[in-house]
Amino acid sequence: MTATIIDGKKLAHKLRADWKLRADRLNAAGIAPGLAAVVIGDDPASKIYVRNKIRACREIGIRSEEHALAADSTLATVLALIDRLNADAAIHGILVQLPLPAHLAQAAVIERISPVKDVDGLHVSNLGSLLSGHPRFVPCTPAGIMEMLKTTGLNLRGAEAVVVGRSNIVGKPAALLLLQAGATVTLCHSQTRDLAHHTRRADVLVCAVGKAHAIGGDMVKHGAAVIDVGINRSPEGKLTGDVDYGAALQRAGWITPVPGGVGPMTITMLLCNTIVAAECCAAGRGIRLDA
Ligand code: NDP
Repeated sequence: MTATIIDGKKLAHKLRADWKLRADRLNAAGIAPGLAAVVIGDDPASKIYVRNKIRACREIGIRSEEHALAADSTLATVLALIDRLNADAAIHGILVQLPLPAHLAQAAVIERISPVKDVDGLHVSNLGSLLSGHPRFVPCTPAGIMEMLKTTGLNLRGAEAVVVGRSNIVGKPAALLLLQAGATVTLCHSQTRDLAHHTRRADVLVCAVGKAHAIGGDMVKHGAAVIDVGINRSPEGKLTGDVDYGAALQRAGWITPVPGGVGPMTITMLLCNTIVAAECCAAGRGIRLDA
């Protein structure tokens, strides 16, 4: 059996075409959806991610601005910028590219973003809404994962879902979304005793570890949907995921490639969240993702 490849690029393209219509409606009504991207320091990967996000904004009709701060910026400088963006009526979404330089407390920075502009969904108030089963802004990568799973037609109710990795950005919110969809969820991490024991039971396997080949082909259940979030660069500069793709392709029912899988969907969900933020702002109401 060879798995069906879930093409993140293609799905992102389709979703962006739909969401562009909503951005067009806003622009036609004189409300330009606006995103501010804050990047602190010189991390080359962060710069590339922000550049890609800005380009995607332009293509869909979101006005974006990049705020680059020096690596040695003080917390006060960063918070002052966020305060200014919170107060700027032309900005509907604010993202702070992570990771931050080590001297900056991530929680202090993220908690300063107004929850109604927190289009990355990382503010404790948005994470709390997700936990309580009434999501507002959902972190972009897990939201993209759920869109990809929808394309499989799998019934998640009662399915065994295993998430490997427990970060606030990917693993934990992905587990919560799967739980909300009715799956029975197991959340694994570096201290999990027998990882393969869990992954081999998974109808849905989400891997967000950040280690190439963390998940061997023999750790995948036959027919499973495998979502590979990991981005790892080989010494030759080649990008790979966490899953042994070639081996897993022969066992899984569906699989996402790296690159061209989760990555484009993450950016797409950022665009969607920004458009929702602008729509809600235009309608003078709080954030509702079912709007
Ligand atoms: P983190 O480093 O924050 O989390 C990694 C998680 O993996 C931790 O929970 C860690 O466990 C767990 N882990 C580490 N080693 C093992 C192991 N041997 N077995 C089981 N679990 C293990 O990473 P992120 O969640 O931020 O990102 C994960 C990967 O996804 C990275 O490669 C990142 O680049 C990529 N990524 C891709 C995105 C995309 O759009 N495609 C978006 C975001 C991230 P513990 O908590 O115990 O340390």
